[in-house]
Amino acid sequence: MSRIVYVNGEYLPEEEAKISIFDRGFLMADGVYEVTSVLDGKLIDFDGHAQRLARSLSELDMGAPATPEELLEIHRELVARNDIGDGMIYLQVTRGSAGDRDFAFPDPEKVTPSLVMFTQSKPGMADTPAAKTGIKVISIDDIRWGRRDIKTVQLLYPSMGKMMAKAAGVDDAWMVEDGVVTEGTSNNAYIVKGGKIITRALSNEILHGITRAAVLRFAQEAQMEVEERNFSIAEAQEADEAFITSASTFVMPVVEVDGTSIGSGAPGPVAARLREIYLDESRKAAI
Ligand code: PMP
Repeated sequence: MSRIVYVNGEYLPEEEAKISIFDRGFLMADGVYEVTSVLDGKLIDFDGHAQRLARSLSELDMGAPATPEELLEIHRELVARNDIGDGMIYLQVTRGSAGDRDFAFPDPEKVTPSLVMFTQSKPGMADTPAAKTGIKVISIDDIRWGRRDIKTVQLLYPSMGKMMAKAAGVDDAWMVEDGVVTEGTSNNAYIVKGGKIITRALSNEILHGITRAAVLRFAQEAQMEVEERNFSIAEAQEADEAFITSASTFVMPVVEVDGTSIGSGAPGPVAARLREIYLDESRKAAI
């Protein structure tokens, strides 16, 4: 069924939506994005995503194509027009089209950013069987650029990472730099040892996950111990549990790293509890 998508002020059937071949998102990956989950027709952590979008735009000196209030309105309109119960809203802002190809940024007074948004329907996404079995990951070198805190559309290496995982017969890849894990191809990475939740601290080396922020807050509220520090693949393989977080997978147990089973080889109690708390609290706060 054809979706209704949003492109620069218009709601259109997806077949009719168009962006210029000179758009800098297309030519130079000069764009940023957000993915917001929808559960029961409501947006999960919209404010967090809107705030990170504003930060990504400002780090790249890109103008905001709409206010947070306008963005909320468009998100809701897309949910309604596409009858989304559970799924995701994808939002992308690019620096727009100067009508030619040039490395220098165009004059922001003359070229306005492009805003594209579309829905992805995923009925029952919170009840995915993978949450019960857990996922398997391999490690790969992290060869991405140095500003991974900006959520840009430069996703070629993460896509290659997913393909490497697929070729190895597993679900995803954790990226490693200087002997320690940075993050998953599209998620933040965690281990649990002796009841303590361990995850890399925020820096320019990783994306500041909106789900990460919420999960760590809920963990602390539930008196669970959190330690923000680096960990290696060898330490992960010795851990009691491992898991990932992202807006579309919530909290997902990891049961194998580079062919070694983690703990019992089944999802552990800490990941299961965090997933439950995260889903409960997020549904309550959804707008
Ligand atoms: N790290 C990377 C590299 C990602 O692409 C994502 C998801 N876009 C995340 C972490 C998780 O971020 P969030 O919880 O905001 O989805």
